[in-house]
Amino acid sequence: MKELIAAVIGVTALLVTPAWSQSPDILLINGKIVTVDDQFPTREALAIRDGRIVALGTTAEIRKLAGAKSRLIDLQGHTVIPGLIDSHMHAIRAALSFSTEVNWIGASSLAEAIGRIHQASQTMKPGAWLIVAGGWNVQQFKAQRAQSCDPFCATSPEEKRRPTQAELLAAAPNNPVYVQLGYGWVMMTPAALKALNIADDSDLPSVGKLDRDANGNLTGGISGGNNAIVALFDKLPKPNFEEQVEGTKRFFRELNRLGITGVVDPGGNNVGPEDYQAVFKVWREGQMTVRVAYSLCGDPPGAEFAELKDLTQMLPMGFGDDMLRFNGLGERIAWAMNNNNKPSDAEKQKYYEIARWAAERGMSITMHWPNEESVDQLLTIFERVNKEVPIAGLRWSIAHLNNASPESLRRMKALGMGWTVQDSLYFSGEQLRNTPAVRRQPPVVTAKEIGVPVGAGTDAHRVASYNPFTALQWFLDGKSVSGIALRGPEETPGRIDALRLYTLGSAWFSRDENKRGSLAAGKLADLAVLTKDYATVPVEEVGGIESLLTMVGGKVVYAAGPFAQLEDKLK
Ligand SMILES: [Zn+2]
Repeated sequence: MKELIAAVIGVTALLVTPAWSQSPDILLINGKIVTVDDQFPTREALAIRDGRIVALGTTAEIRKLAGAKSRLIDLQGHTVIPGLIDSHMHAIRAALSFSTEVNWIGASSLAEAIGRIHQASQTMKPGAWLIVAGGWNVQQFKAQRAQSCDPFCATSPEEKRRPTQAELLAAAPNNPVYVQLGYGWVMMTPAALKALNIADDSDLPSVGKLDRDANGNLTGGISGGNNAIVALFDKLPKPNFEEQVEGTKRFFRELNRLGITGVVDPGGNNVGPEDYQAVFKVWREGQMTVRVAYSLCGDPPGAEFAELKDLTQMLPMGFGDDMLRFNGLGERIAWAMNNNNKPSDAEKQKYYEIARWAAERGMSITMHWPNEESVDQLLTIFERVNKEVPIAGLRWSIAHLNNASPESLRRMKALGMGWTVQDSLYFSGEQLRNTPAVRRQPPVVTAKEIGVPVGAGTDAHRVASYNPFTALQWFLDGKSVSGIALRGPEETPGRIDALRLYTLGSAWFSRDENKRGSLAAGKLADLAVLTKDYATVPVEEVGGIESLLTMVGGKVVYAAGPFAQLEDKLK
């Protein structure tokens, strides 16, 4: 009988609200709603009450639900998708400096990128730092295209190169300028070097090195590994608290502009426990426009376990609410296992102890691991933990691992683990263009066949752009930023499958797939109305899609174009 009632409710709830309920707050009609719900892939209209979807159906069916106070939004045929969820974005960190950094994301020429520095120098105080903290790659600089450069434009050479110190100095003569490329290189102007007291190699942290030209003269460039650049970045002045709060609001709104309603935040370099106060304040004040599930990284080197125990003593797994929630550990658990393909037995033992402790506390773990060649080291530890404390329900995951083998994916599946996939090959894949294996990277189709939960994302904003449509286009065409096709059809998902990775797939990693990630009755009303039809637009236009109207829990957090008047004031 119970099953029968459930079945009846299941069917009717999709079309009509029960007679005893109040009428919906909002009705969206005349749309093309891509639900990512297998049962009803597309719908025309939906109704929202108290932040949740209460019904979906045809425009006529949904119109009938209108009450005197229902707000009617005519979608005018636009496509609606579930709000996008980036399952691996360093959003809390990116947000801190969003109001004070210069952003090179999406700049299609070096001239445009340097122009942004010049522009910032005009609006910021003389002496203020101009910082580009990554998020770009030389491959994105296709050509120098000035407005009126005829007759040279047609033959203008490709300019896939880094900026010179002279160019930065000319763009902003009165400000110290710092431009970081991934975690491997930095260019600074003389004022910036002077401000940080850097005159020779001994002034640099870790194994950093000042670049020299053929004549032995310093160029302003600094090279070094991950740790050198992380330490160098730490020397830069930090935005003050007010700027951090402002940056957080602005960054989340920027994500809303691109249809994002949720992120899974894996901590990261240059962000410590003290850096979470800005997002906590925005949350306390009811100003969150992106749902954030955040994990904690292990720090300081060698003493990670003690600190993780300390920080989580009063922070149980899942603590928080639908806007901000504690989501376990990662993506760095212990420095010794970070980007280390040959950890020692002692390092693995230490890691095992933390992982087992996390398992006993029901915590999720997400672990940064770039290489298939060494991932056995990690999976063996997880398998050992699993024999002692089953982890199948804990949603452990590996981030990156673009070259995951079917064997590793099967081991992950057996452990109930997921895999978060980012578009790093969009930026860096060209280096692998002569490697046949890159045709099958990342193997998301194989992962689907094996049954490993996959979430999509970007790893923004140091090493990648945060634009989800850039990543979605890359999932669909496998082309690098300069247009070189790297991936073959074998591991290329269809449109809806790619969208599913970015919605329901990502929701899995914060244990939210029953609450959001698809548009179905009972789920949170997180959605985006798009500028173009994601399902049918030519693939090369997917990357240019934006949102016209983004809702989080039924609240309009971003509105533009024909919907510009609809934006809600937050609390
Ligand atoms: Zn990572």
